[in-house]
Amino acid sequence: MTAAALGSAALSCATRSPKSSGASPDSELTKPIMQAETTTTRTARPVDRVLATSAEHWVGDGFRVRSVINPQGDPRIQSPFLLLDHAPSRYFEPSTGTHRRGVGEHPHRGFETVTFAYRGEVAHRDSSGGGGLIGAGDVQWMTAAGGIVHEEFHSQQFTEQGGDMEMVQLWVNLPAKHKLDRPGYQALLDKDFPRLQLDAAKARLIAGSLRNETGPARTHTPMTIFDLKFEEAGPTVLELPRGYTTLAFTLEGDVYVGAEQRQVQPGAMAVLGRDSEGALQLQAAKDARVLVLSGQPINEPVAAYGPFVMNTRAEIIQAMEDYQSGKMGHLS
Ligand code: MN
Repeated sequence: MTAAALGSAALSCATRSPKSSGASPDSELTKPIMQAETTTTRTARPVDRVLATSAEHWVGDGFRVRSVINPQGDPRIQSPFLLLDHAPSRYFEPSTGTHRRGVGEHPHRGFETVTFAYRGEVAHRDSSGGGGLIGAGDVQWMTAAGGIVHEEFHSQQFTEQGGDMEMVQLWVNLPAKHKLDRPGYQALLDKDFPRLQLDAAKARLIAGSLRNETGPARTHTPMTIFDLKFEEAGPTVLELPRGYTTLAFTLEGDVYVGAEQRQVQPGAMAVLGRDSEGALQLQAAKDARVLVLSGQPINEPVAAYGPFVMNTRAEIIQAMEDYQSGKMGHLS
């Protein structure tokens, strides 16, 4: 589906209508046109805006990321999603020293961190006893909730062998009633994600439902998260719930979104109209990759400071005190 195709369909309809003004709605003149229109022009949801990527910055010394949304962003655009950092593929030299690249011990409270490993391998450990390795294709879903302390490093084997590292970290907000729940940890493996062929793209379904499949991640609010890899140049068109935040983030390649085919560069994100009808429409080059996030907004105030995301400033101050007094635990 191209913008030109939509334009010509609209034009043919407009030029016919004056002639059919005197005919009955069932006349043979109007009927074929109506049928042609429904089969060739499926409504595309409009792109509300395209968010540009930031310049790259280091997170610790292990992840050089570009950010496209952050917790200070407008919840009316991005809720329930808080932050998306992408570490584009980057080569790390082998290292035999004892130094581990990554991010040392730090806390979180009030939300979930979701780490997608695309290339390389990360070792994780947290104060609730969760941890392990996530390798290419795996996803780690950590529910910080009431409070957790964790560390995220390149794995020992990756450090020694060197190689390409590509990661995404997504922060997903929790509603007030779950912000102080016990922490949780889900290790989701590449082999556990249902695959769907969506026109030119192959989808891996991580959370929620798409067509007749359901992803393995357990979530606290309704959402659908999947990534797409275009096996050939072409389109994909899929229905996602109206009223949800729908975001399409380009990981790699030439990607165009919506009927107007807005280009969304690698590291940028298309925000689809939340209250509009229509399907998410993507057009991309072969080998392009896109991460799609669709979630029911959490209509609550957001108070965010560093690694804490709560509803009020008082709760942020409480989180700092609880971390400093050791209530979020320690790494053993
Ligand atoms: Mn962290």
